[in-house]
Amino acid sequence: MQNFLDTDIKYLPGVGPRRAEQLNKELNIKCYRDLLYYFPYRYVDRTKFYTVAELDPDLPYVQIRGVIKGYFTEGKGNNKRLIAEFSDETGVIRLIWFRGTRWIPETYPAGKEYIIFGKPGVFNSMINIIHPEIELAEKREKRLVSGLEALYSTTEELKSSFITSKFISKLVGNLLGMINFRLPETLPDYIITNNNLMSLHDAIHKIHFPSNTKEMERARYRFKFEELFYIQLNLLRYKVFRKTHTPGFIFSRVGEYFNKFYFNNLSFELTDAQKRVMKEIRRDLGSGKQMNRLLQGDVGSGKTLVALMSMLIAADNGYQSCIMAPTEILAYQHFRSISKFTEGIGIRVMLLTGSTKKTERKHIEKVLLSDEPAILIGTHALIEENVRFKRLGLAIIDEQHRFGVAQRAKLWEKSQNPPHVLVMTATPIPRTLAMTLYGDLDVSVINELPPGRKPVKTMHFFESERNKVFAFMRKQISEGRQVYIVYPLITESEKLDYKNLDEGLDILTQAFPPPQYCISVLHGRMTAANKEISMKLFREGKAHIMVATTVIEVGVDVPNATVMVIESAERFGLSQLHQLRGRVGRGAEQSYCILMSSDKLSKEASERIETMVRTSDGFEIAEADLRLRGPGDIEGTQQSGFPFELRISDLARDGQIIEYVRRIAESILEKDPLLEDDKNLILKQELNRLFSRNYSWSNIS
Ligand code: ADP
Ligand code: MG
Repeated sequence: MQNFLDTDIKYLPGVGPRRAEQLNKELNIKCYRDLLYYFPYRYVDRTKFYTVAELDPDLPYVQIRGVIKGYFTEGKGNNKRLIAEFSDETGVIRLIWFRGTRWIPETYPAGKEYIIFGKPGVFNSMINIIHPEIELAEKREKRLVSGLEALYSTTEELKSSFITSKFISKLVGNLLGMINFRLPETLPDYIITNNNLMSLHDAIHKIHFPSNTKEMERARYRFKFEELFYIQLNLLRYKVFRKTHTPGFIFSRVGEYFNKFYFNNLSFELTDAQKRVMKEIRRDLGSGKQMNRLLQGDVGSGKTLVALMSMLIAADNGYQSCIMAPTEILAYQHFRSISKFTEGIGIRVMLLTGSTKKTERKHIEKVLLSDEPAILIGTHALIEENVRFKRLGLAIIDEQHRFGVAQRAKLWEKSQNPPHVLVMTATPIPRTLAMTLYGDLDVSVINELPPGRKPVKTMHFFESERNKVFAFMRKQISEGRQVYIVYPLITESEKLDYKNLDEGLDILTQAFPPPQYCISVLHGRMTAANKEISMKLFREGKAHIMVATTVIEVGVDVPNATVMVIESAERFGLSQLHQLRGRVGRGAEQSYCILMSSDKLSKEASERIETMVRTSDGFEIAEADLRLRGPGDIEGTQQSGFPFELRISDLARDGQIIEYVRRIAESILEKDPLLEDDKNLILKQELNRLFSRNYSWSNIS
């Protein structure tokens, strides 16, 4: 039976080698099972008929039964269109075609009864349907249709070979007709019974050919449940396994390095949130098990400090540690602030990036192979082949969503035994998304900013109000403050990116002329040395304005900068806007974030901007982001290597199911951590089938 489902799709009647290749390439359908699991994206109710009198342009797709009274054409040339008057007892509407004007009247002669299907619209205060689906009523009556007709997505390429939604539906029907056995269950009986789920056999049939909405919904729920359940079970079993099997270095002491820092160099009190998180981390480090912790906290909440204290504890126990940052600027920033924080306590802090000189690099490599408990800070350069540690005890990854999973994995292999791992992110992730992306990590949250910070005031201005914004900037600068102006990265091309900034710079230089004003510039095409010169000008207060592309998004820390102007704010995603806003509000003065946008905005863009103006709560913003964009687009889900493609669930909408199935998975693993019980055999088999390719993924984060 299992073998049957593995049969190559080309053997299915109606497919053949050519279509098989297309199905394979376009929809990733390779075998019978893949076809059965190619679920419809929508259903139309073919039992429901509307009358003409009921139609209005707000309705979605509708089905109507009536007679085509006659055809005529309107317009000329490109604008020529074919119009049919279509009526039932309640009234008349127009059917409109812009193509096929010749063959349509021949194929669907006037005077006969048809069933049409389409989206009602309105033109010249008359209801119309453009390019309706159309079928002779008596022909339709002969055709067997289930109450709800499934629609499958296809591609242009497939459509051009006549692999339409209807065709796919026919293939599924053929295949189901060939299945003369009960489809083997993929969930244990007790889970099906306890949760009142539809059996796999029924669910597969009903998801493709439901006879009513209730059946369709029950079938879909079964598959959402199953999909999300296995994701959680997979994540959680690695967590359980690690906690019971992967040993971790024991950092039992707090010694000189930490204490010198804490008592001599730390000039402020830790926030309660920082203290709580340090406790959580210390408990992990002393547990004898490998730590795998995600540290979430808004920009400026003091994560770097937590990272530093953890590294000092590693050093006190004789271990090396490292921080990997996503950009050279950020790595350098960490290097500077950590060097400063550790002044006089006798620990070596080193920086390794792509621009590190060869001799310096050789020296660093030598230190890492010694017993010295040094701290290494750097970029991707840390994971290059020739960087080896003798005693790597703690690896910290900052702004982790920017690293691919494969890159993170390399850090694990740097040392004989796996180091403790702390992953830090300033992009708050909604709970349910975190449960899915990082479901096997322990999570700490810094939900408090250091005291004395005033919340940043956020304002929205249209392009036509630019002069007001410039006046505001002049006022702030005259009070001794500094201003960031950020331009979006319009395309991946650095050239275009720069052009956009370059044009803005012309206008700015006129509005803020030298020598009264000094403007420093920062963008991706500059050399590291020039970037540093620009940063230095701004950091030392010599430049009033820093004009930058999104390269400043992470890591710049200039407390005297109180204004963040974001140009073309409508082009940024919410999480990016939030990150950028976090660059100000770091000092004692009131700070401002100004969102500049073009005068016309899409609904979604204005919702993003309104959200930014309304709240500065990172988690609220993350939820809005998830709602507005859908999880596939959330920054980070792609880069962080979302390890599976969701067939049917929607992380934005199915949050409740996620929480529900996670609890079920937890309670199963609690009783049977290795899934050795007979009744859990299916679980083990399914995990292997679903995730064997992704084994290493799950091991990593
Ligand atoms: P994050 O990495 O979370 O964005 P940082 O660690 O860079 O935040 O901290 C932002 C700024 O706040 C830094 O200048 C840091 O020295 C300062 N800071 C951190 N913790 C505290 C605290 N408890 N009290 C006052 N200032 C703090
Ligand atoms: Mg930071």
